[in-house]
Amino acid sequence: MYQLEPIAALATAPGIGAIAVLRVSGEGAIELTNRLFKGKDLTQQASHTAHFGTLRTETGGIIDEVLVTIFRAPKSFTKEDVAEISCHGSEFIIQQILRRLMQEGVRLARPGEFTQRAFLNGQFDLVQAEAVADLIASDSDASHRAALNQLRGGFSRQLKDLRQQLIDFVALVELELDFGEEDVEFAHRDKLRQLMLDIRRVLHPLIDSFSTGNAIKNGVPTVIIGKPNAGKSTLLNALLNEEKAIVSDIPGTTRDVIEDELFLDGIRFRLIDTAGLRQATDQIEAIGIERTQQKMRDAALVVYLFDGPAIRPDDLDEVTAELHQSGKPYLLVGNKADLMTETKHEALSPILANEQVIWISAARQTHLDDLKAALSARVRTDAAVQTGSAVVTNARHYNHLIGTDDALARAIAGLDAGVTPDWLAMDLRVALQHLGELTGEITTDDLLDSIFSKFCIGK
Ligand code: GDP
Repeated sequence: MYQLEPIAALATAPGIGAIAVLRVSGEGAIELTNRLFKGKDLTQQASHTAHFGTLRTETGGIIDEVLVTIFRAPKSFTKEDVAEISCHGSEFIIQQILRRLMQEGVRLARPGEFTQRAFLNGQFDLVQAEAVADLIASDSDASHRAALNQLRGGFSRQLKDLRQQLIDFVALVELELDFGEEDVEFAHRDKLRQLMLDIRRVLHPLIDSFSTGNAIKNGVPTVIIGKPNAGKSTLLNALLNEEKAIVSDIPGTTRDVIEDELFLDGIRFRLIDTAGLRQATDQIEAIGIERTQQKMRDAALVVYLFDGPAIRPDDLDEVTAELHQSGKPYLLVGNKADLMTETKHEALSPILANEQVIWISAARQTHLDDLKAALSARVRTDAAVQTGSAVVTNARHYNHLIGTDDALARAIAGLDAGVTPDWLAMDLRVALQHLGELTGEITTDDLLDSIFSKFCIGK
């Protein structure tokens, strides 16, 4: 276990609060804290105990009444000696305490340095360390769950295991290289093949989960499209309960693209309005228009709104066909239900026979709950979200997963083609490198710096 030089930082949010917590970690953290503490002798206390006392200035004046909790290495977050000082949440007190600690030889922690030390001391792997940052930043039920799952080991434990098995095979393949011309085979090819297939089977759901994972973390980009006058702005307003879109009787009056957020069942939807479309000259907002297609490409979920009383059956037929073709998850929403007649319903019913339509009235704000329920249901049908199984939310992880998968695909193809051991070893090493960087078994200082510098100070 490493104990590095003592560092300290405010662990709670800056600003005024009832209580603030300062964290001191590293070699001598408890002894150094004890030098400013008046109460019990902290150096004589057991790990995981809390002690009331006062912190003193160098001349013996009282800075504050505090509670110091001590954790002895390796049973602490950083696996170093740690003292956590709970003081009153005043900027002045915090500065005084930090200044006193600096006088005793403690230095200010860099952003993420506590977590970095925890990682270096094997408290968790890199994926878990990054999850700490995600957990702190999580702002919805779904992102919180994804981060928590990742923090608790998520997929990295399983990958580490498989990587170890792959390392054993690579060693054997490399041993074959030492025998040069002789035709020896230490690495059992069928077993190697099976292992690589097994790894890819673990990788694929993770790779697929990235779009969901990303959506959970950053919100599900959702677009509302439909012809002018269908009621898109009215719907957006109704959903957001805010007068952000300009509603008007005149088609084409919504000017600015409005992006806003809607939280449903703990899922964040990023609503993208299609205002820009109004600039299309032909006034017909067909799905075929390039801008609509671009919006659809950007979106993870499409809400197609049509004017129920106004739409012609043929047009609706065309729309549903195009939506189908797009391959995007979509919701078909019939608006102006308040103006729908029995006759019109009958006219549309053959076309809607195989479609699920949600009928609403945006203007009267009726059945909006049905629409909201359908929105969250569309996202939740994704098994990963539903079961809380591992979801990849981090682009760095995603890139390494793809890299591993590609290398393994090449290695398997090579095996099938009967390539020489040196070729095989090369692809396997690429796969190992990606897997190792993913879980942090292989790290570089640059990588660590770039990851941990994104943390806040005190984390
Ligand atoms: P957009 O062009 O698709 O954004 O459509 P708007 O939201 O501007 O709505 C066009 C017109 O339809 C406005 O006059 C709205 O008041 C009206 N409208 C929207 N929703 C409904 C509805 O549910 N029922 C009725 N009767 N009128 C609606």
